[in-house]
Amino acid sequence: MRVTTGFSRLLRLPGVGVRKVRFEPDRVIVEVALRRRRLICPECGYSTRARKDTRPESSVWRHLDLGVWRLEVHCRRRRLWCPEHGARTEGVPFARPGSEFTRDFECLVAWLATRTDKSTIKRMLRIDWDTVGRIVARVCADELDPGRLDDLYEIGVDEVSWKRQHRYLTLVVDHHRRQVVWGCEGSGQVAADAFFDELDPPPADPAPDPAKQSRAASEPAIMVPFGPCPTVPAGHGIPGAWLMPGLEIEPAIFARAGLLQAVSMDMGPGYAKSVRANAPQAVLCIDPYHVVQLANQALDEVRRAYWNELRSLGDQDAAKRFKDSRWSLLKRPEKLTDEQAATLARIKAAGGEVWRAYTLKEAVRGIFEPGLSLEDVAVLIKRLLSRLSRSRLQPFVRLGKTIRKHRDAILAAIRLGINQGRTEALNNKVRLITRRAYGFHSAKAALALVILTCGPVTLHLPHELHASGLT
Ligand SMILES: [Zn+2]
Repeated sequence: MRVTTGFSRLLRLPGVGVRKVRFEPDRVIVEVALRRRRLICPECGYSTRARKDTRPESSVWRHLDLGVWRLEVHCRRRRLWCPEHGARTEGVPFARPGSEFTRDFECLVAWLATRTDKSTIKRMLRIDWDTVGRIVARVCADELDPGRLDDLYEIGVDEVSWKRQHRYLTLVVDHHRRQVVWGCEGSGQVAADAFFDELDPPPADPAPDPAKQSRAASEPAIMVPFGPCPTVPAGHGIPGAWLMPGLEIEPAIFARAGLLQAVSMDMGPGYAKSVRANAPQAVLCIDPYHVVQLANQALDEVRRAYWNELRSLGDQDAAKRFKDSRWSLLKRPEKLTDEQAATLARIKAAGGEVWRAYTLKEAVRGIFEPGLSLEDVAVLIKRLLSRLSRSRLQPFVRLGKTIRKHRDAILAAIRLGINQGRTEALNNKVRLITRRAYGFHSAKAALALVILTCGPVTLHLPHELHASGLT
């Protein structure tokens, strides 16, 4: 068998044949040529026989390593003129537009990035972390399920910090599928508004066609109602935008917000405002996760104050013992190690403010125990509120006020079954992934990693792709 034939079989690059193979000290270079005659625009798939000019462009892609060898694919590409995108170098079937890596290499990177840490990937694949970020963003844009925003009924909106200095990503979770279906950089109302804009894109400005414009001026516009309306069933309305006559729109795309039955969120005002404006029929719920998180913060405040007091009294040993007890207090009792459980027992024996704060925190967590009926929870919240207001611990008195204010939305979450257990696993996964994404320079890459890991995407390894004939 000739070397070129051998390499053709070995690399399985679609649409090309191997012309030449060269061994250099640190790499194998494989020269390939496209089999097809027609030139294809990499952006839109427009194809033509005409070349824009005779100047070829030499391009290089990194492919999967061959044993210890780095493998480079070299190909001379022609240029074409796309009516939509102008002058472009033709696309190749084995790599994404703009990438310096083959699809096989990129799918390996994406698969690893969702499963293992930064230094493993960098060392194993010999690429830097920002390159991983760019690859992840490309794969995400390519592989994401286009129907991911259809049929959303119960969702959660939450922010997660992805870098120090208060930089946030806002993520939308589909509670039914337990997947992250949307995200953007930033937080609060602006971010949630951006989600609703994508869910139901606002009608585009009518084309500046003079005939149409005069018609628009002479005829009254039609307003289509949205949300709960006796004549328009949910999902068939159009947000209260004034639509110009003759404007062609697809009604189904404009009505996805009308399907939402419940939206869970934190206790801040931003997301709630946006949901009230864009999906007024949806029930607002507070994610139990956020309530428990606030209780943990209150406990931590009490613990820190007590620790500082001990330190100021000169009790260095006790102060140190106390500092290490943080996790004994914050972890779920059933998840404590033996040592942490012993520390907790000591705190209990000592009694005092910290122990009281701990029991209050556990009482807050108790509201969300699985198996409680709505009536049970209502009674528990009532008792809890009275305990908190009488606690004489400032952070917990404050917590009580917050819970009282959001009582109905907390109960709504329980009624709809948006409980701690259902959201916690996904939450933990998202937080783990965003920590891994800290090293990326762009929010887009961080977001792509979260969505590739927790979203409606199935990633395959190169051999799986080739086996299933997907390429
Ligand atoms: Zn094009």
